[in-house]
Amino acid sequence: MMGCTLQLTLARRCDVCRQLIDEERAANDSMDAALFGAVRYAFCVGCRQAARRPWSPAYRRRWETRLAEQQAERVQEASHG
Ligand SMILES: [Zn+2]
Repeated sequence: MMGCTLQLTLARRCDVCRQLIDEERAANDSMDAALFGAVRYAFCVGCRQAARRPWSPAYRRRWETRLAEQQAERVQEASHG
């Protein structure tokens, strides 16, 4: 018994890179990103998992959009003290 059905039901898919979100993997991958320096597009800004090449134009567009949103949120937080 692998419990595949249950996993598929609960799995969330990232709206930036379209990968299934694995919290454990995201934690490991974001650590890699911190260690090796985040290469543009190599780590998804949505789920913090590594994204493998080739990066589609659609993915890059969503990546840029999400990054801009996150930066805007940060600026707002800063201005509120
Ligand atoms: Zn993602």
